[in-house]
Amino acid sequence: MLGPDRYAPRLHDVPHEELEAAGIRGLIVDLDNTLLGFRETELGQEHLDWVERAHDRGFRIVMLSNNFSQRVRTLAAQLNVSCIPNALKPLPFGFLRAKRRLQLRRREIAVVGDQLFTDVLGGKMCGLYTILTEPIEAKDFAITRLFRFFERMMLPERRTP
Ligand SMILES: [Mg+2]
Repeated sequence: MLGPDRYAPRLHDVPHEELEAAGIRGLIVDLDNTLLGFRETELGQEHLDWVERAHDRGFRIVMLSNNFSQRVRTLAAQLNVSCIPNALKPLPFGFLRAKRRLQLRRREIAVVGDQLFTDVLGGKMCGLYTILTEPIEAKDFAITRLFRFFERMMLPERRTP
């Protein structure tokens, strides 16, 4: 029930063709530790390129973050995607707002994030396809570290960097 539909080291490891073949047309993407490590201030070129190519192929993307800083909006603007900060994942409200923005059906949307108990759990509760990525940086807030402990217990097969 709790496992993601797919694992990927990073978002840019997921081929656009694969998503298209699965009928996915929209993405709800986490920010912290999915697109950007806590100590990083700039998005990696691979992520910028991946999102740009996704747009070229017609994917719609919304950034959904529990973070509430101005940084979320700045980085979303750099990626040319709409954003919903302070999302309170795994609660469904933010995911449902993102789904309305995407104007797509549930089966056409994939959630991408590094945390089982926010990104994957929330996405699954809303009936969305879920992709769990490797966290970019191991240094997390205390609550996230606690979640990571339970993640390791539940997902021993997930590779760690
Ligand atoms: Mg995250």
